[in-house]
Amino acid sequence: GIRPLIAGNWKMNGLSADLGELAAMGEGAFGGAEGLICVPATLLSRASDALAGSKLRLGGEDCHGAASGAHTGDVSAEMLADAGASHVLVGHSERRTDHGESDAVVADKAKAAWRAGLTAVICIGETKEEREGGKTLSVLSSQIPGSVPAEATAANTVVAYEPVWAIGTGLTPTVEDITEAHRHIRTELKTLLGDEADKMRLLYGGSVKPGNATELLSIENVDGALVGGASLKAVDFLAIAAAC
Ligand code: 13P
Repeated sequence: GIRPLIAGNWKMNGLSADLGELAAMGEGAFGGAEGLICVPATLLSRASDALAGSKLRLGGEDCHGAASGAHTGDVSAEMLADAGASHVLVGHSERRTDHGESDAVVADKAKAAWRAGLTAVICIGETKEEREGGKTLSVLSSQIPGSVPAEATAANTVVAYEPVWAIGTGLTPTVEDITEAHRHIRTELKTLLGDEADKMRLLYGGSVKPGNATELLSIENVDGALVGGASLKAVDFLAIAAAC
């Protein structure tokens, strides 16, 4: 089977005072899972120091497509790697919404991640309106070839399914709906990537908490979780990892 990945996303949260939480996560047990925590770029290098000697991996939350240049305020994948990251989220729904990132931009960022030696965590998922309109699977069918470059491998890419309406709302799809979505994602990835898709990790994200992690992580084709709010505190994040 696929070794699960429990990934956290701090979003626009985290100051120096929170580095102790990271250190506590770094000392915690992830059991059979791999652990990853994605933090704001401002914290990366100190987070890297705080996690020295730990197996917990560190990630950025976004990167620019270029390696360097005249892009004020942006951060390149090379800079994230230099600061201690091994992974980077690309195409998170908050980036797609707040910064108008298209599938093509997201695919470009995934390639930038690989260029810098990072693993890209490519995020996809439908909005509430799309879900209610019965368009979930067709949205995934267009986001996958649009956002996942054809050179993706199980080593350089993780795909995270995050229904936009489940993020930060306490709402989650039913087990049946997640089963259907993840099966569909695996099928679409197989069309794009062939057998490589069988080894690729597919994460579920959206209101994952210690209380629902066991159920969510036991769903077929769910190879881990992408956790927002519950990744801010070591006790919650480690409880989710313990559910693996
Ligand atoms: P929540 O876990 O806070 O719903 O956030 C999910 C998410 O967007 C992780 O990337």
